Amino acid sequence: MHLTEATWTDVRDVDTDVAILPVGSTEQHGPHAPLGTDALSAAEIAARAEERADEELVVAPVVSVGVAEEHRHFDGTLWVSEDTFRAYVRETIESLAHHGFERIAVVNGHGGNAAAVRELCARVTRDGTAYAVPYTWFDTVDSELLANLGHGGPIETSVVQAIDASLVHEDRFEEAAAGAGERFGEWVSGVNIAYDFAEFAESGNVKDPSDASAEHGEAVLDDAVAKLLDLLDAIADR
Ligand SMILES: [Zn+2]
Repeated sequence: MHLTEATWTDVRDVDTDVAILPVGSTEQHGPHAPLGTDALSAAEIAARAEERADEELVVAPVVSVGVAEEHRHFDGTLWVSEDTFRAYVRETIESLAHHGFERIAVVNGHGGNAAAVRELCARVTRDGTAYAVPYTWFDTVDSELLANLGHGGPIETSVVQAIDASLVHEDRFEEAAAGAGERFGEWVSGVNIAYDFAEFAESGNVKDPSDASAEHGEAVLDDAVAKLLDLLDAIADR
């Protein structure tokens, strides 16, 4: 059941205490992939899990602005501070828990949110508000499916193609690759001395997206959903 499509009486009558809260970002993903990539991926994994699950579960609307100031030089990128994000997501979980949805997976599509999501999930759990666990899809999907992950690289691009191929501009892959950074940051003595993507990735990309395909995106989504369903089973049994 998706909260945005259900009525309040539907939600009153639903027989579950398990909810998924997708969180993403609105940030540049190179010249070829949409700003909404991370929000789209989180929402899609949540929706597919809801469809495939044996038990009923509730899906909250996606939180689509996250911790993304490192992309601020690229037009259209939006961000909030880590404090604001933590408070916003935590209070959203508190309102889910208020209605009896006390077992929650926060499905995250953006690396910059990951530390905050883990921290806030621990907070609400320790407070006894809800039992919440973080799920960042690219930390859980089989590593052989994530070769050259990067940022706006072949994996994220494939996932967007699987969701809606019209959102990916294949004719800009060359431009994306030409300005791509080799890795995340500028590393000296094990320290990343760059704070913003513009310092090491001219096109906004890390890794060349040219190998992307909708088929690969389907495989990634499939594995992400399977892992999420296993996690939801464990949360429900706790
Ligand atoms: Zn991303």
